[in-house]
Amino acid sequence: ESYKRIAAVDHKVRAFLKLDEENARKAAKALDEHSGEGHPRGLLFGLPIGVKDNIVTEGVTTTCASQFLSNYNPIYDATVVSKLKEAEAISVGKLNMDEFAMGGSGENSSFYPTHNPWNLEYVPGGSSSGSAAAVAAGEVYFSLGSDTGGSIRQPAAYCGIVGMKPTYGLVSRYGLVAFASSLDQIGPLTKNVEDSAYLLQAIAGHDPKDSTSLNTEIPDYISALTGDVRGLRIAVPKEYLGQGIDPKVKDAVLTALKVLEGLGAVVEEVSLPHSEYAVAAYYLLASSEASSNLARFDGVRYGVRADNPKNLLDVYLKSRSEGFGNEVKRRIMLGTYALSSGYYDAYYLKAQKVRTLIKRDFEQVFEKYDVVIGPTAPTTAFRIGSQTEDPLTMYLNDILTIPVNLAGIPAISVPCGFSDGLPVGLQIIGKALDESTILRVAHAYE
Ligand code: GLN
Repeated sequence: ESYKRIAAVDHKVRAFLKLDEENARKAAKALDEHSGEGHPRGLLFGLPIGVKDNIVTEGVTTTCASQFLSNYNPIYDATVVSKLKEAEAISVGKLNMDEFAMGGSGENSSFYPTHNPWNLEYVPGGSSSGSAAAVAAGEVYFSLGSDTGGSIRQPAAYCGIVGMKPTYGLVSRYGLVAFASSLDQIGPLTKNVEDSAYLLQAIAGHDPKDSTSLNTEIPDYISALTGDVRGLRIAVPKEYLGQGIDPKVKDAVLTALKVLEGLGAVVEEVSLPHSEYAVAAYYLLASSEASSNLARFDGVRYGVRADNPKNLLDVYLKSRSEGFGNEVKRRIMLGTYALSSGYYDAYYLKAQKVRTLIKRDFEQVFEKYDVVIGPTAPTTAFRIGSQTEDPLTMYLNDILTIPVNLAGIPAISVPCGFSDGLPVGLQIIGKALDESTILRVAHAYE
């Protein structure tokens, strides 16, 4: 069914980079043969899933939508992919994205941009562009994405689906191609909140292969969906509804808050005073970490090597010049600069301090409140090509998602209406490891 739908719509949406029909059919057949023999069914038995192309899959190319890795064929599965197999989901293929997860529109894919299923002239958001579009277009039941500064939540908002960034360390990143290691998290993109709880249940948990993985008890997320939010305390940061937020987005969010109030929640305004520095701090930290992580792509170890190099240095230079796209190069240069001696204190160290202040802002609010709610993004999806000339405007778009990554806490984006025919996302932010509460609130609202 999934492949039929993909054949019917993906030439327009372009969510997939690679389909893996042969293996998917084999896996489905194996499940068919197994079931009925008294085997308990896996949590995601038989459900078709798509995987973002920065998550490695054994024997299936994993390109990060980069020319550099256009021929990279991993010899192992990421832990999340093994967990999907254990849960008996069926991976149908690899999903388009911004190159190395750098971007917020899907336009930085070095192969082709993905289109928003609600209006094909608009971006689906990013960097998990294909992960969001494939679910919104009904090509897969759900998908996995990664979120470093909003890359699950923002495309989910733009495509009118549910996207969750779990607490840093809750889901193993073994086999996720690293962008910014202190921020990256894998998470679910789904049509509704219940599916999100199921997919999170399947992928969460300690992994000795990931040194940042938390060794913590995983609660039952599905039973958290009680529908009851009476007495729940909701904080609405005034910075999240102020300057730069599209008035129609603001209206949709205020309406959603009224609905939650109607269900018995208490809504109050708060302040997260350091929010305005989040974008600057993030782009320094993320680029610094990226410049270090991407040093491994040298033309020797992974992916494509440039032809006819003169010497070893030339292997590095030519392979990197030809293999990386402009946005990736921009970040490597910015990060290398910020980490260089003499500048480290002024940029990287300063950004780390700002990060601590942002984390404390949230900690203070969470002393009195259960969740923080605001929009996921300041606007709805924009037209393809309309922001490509101006990286700074593109970066500012992440202002509402980035603080959550800097603080390491979980957040979910759920659809909350439309503005001019395009979906608006409501962001529900929770305390560290309190995915159950954000799922409960999202589910009650939905
Ligand atoms: N848009 C942000 C960036 O370009 C977020 C990316 C992400 O979360 N992977 O860095």
